[in-house]
Amino acid sequence: MQFQQVTKDYSGGFTAVKNLSFEIASGELVFLAGHSGAGKSTLLKLIAGIEQPTSGTVLVNKQNLARLSRASLPYVRRHIGLIFQDHKILFDRSVYDNVALPLDIIGFDGREAKRRVLAALDKVGLAGKEKLNPVALSGGEQQRLCIARAVVHRPAILLADEPTANLDRDYANDILELFKSFHQVGVTIVISAHDESLMADYGRRILRLKNGQFTA
Ligand code: ADP
Ligand code: ADP
Repeated sequence: MQFQQVTKDYSGGFTAVKNLSFEIASGELVFLAGHSGAGKSTLLKLIAGIEQPTSGTVLVNKQNLARLSRASLPYVRRHIGLIFQDHKILFDRSVYDNVALPLDIIGFDGREAKRRVLAALDKVGLAGKEKLNPVALSGGEQQRLCIARAVVHRPAILLADEPTANLDRDYANDILELFKSFHQVGVTIVISAHDESLMADYGRRILRLKNGQFTA
């Protein structure tokens, strides 16, 4: 994916990211660091096509998101898995049904869909909990449910907004190891965090944002 001089102003005129240019190679795992308000979520939303740039160009899969029709955006989104802070777990249905949601949207069902859902739950350590209501899960388990839901349709790109926020260090490392395993099967991954010390051990590129711009 590639950003070419991308600026995002929110209504009211506030500039959240300013003139950003960078490239993330297919299959790369990149960290996005910066304090609260630095523009991390905005950058991830621009990649996901949830926000549109005020100026500049966002290319994902060599496609300019701004040039896509409203009808074709969902097809691009299918290749992206999102783990955002507001979990958006549906508490009126089971763990299984929550994870199956992205497959339902694609119209992918049947035995292979079931196998995928159970494999995703197994992958995040929630095997055997599929029939539960998500309220019965701990906070950490709910977060892993979100990760299972984000990867069940095998996206090429995985975007995670502060997935380790409020976690103790061991648990945060478990989550990062999980992302590493997706990286090992070729998924392009962008993980944001305000705590840079966690990222240091992983030897990956770190993009540092401050007031919407990159710092060294
Ligand atoms: P981070 O994820 O690093 O905390 P954000 O991208 O959420 O940063 O926010 C960057 C700046 O943009 C913040 O000052 C925030 O208040 C502002 N901002 C974020 N979303 C909106 C919005 N929808 N409308 C107006 N301002 C926003
Ligand atoms: P499966 O049993 O579905 O073939 P694997 O055992 O290979 O899956 O991997 C376990 C989980 O890892 C999968 O359910 C999926 O959530 C995730 N995964 C595997 N490959 C990919 C991929 N290319 N993109 C995203 N997630 C993947």
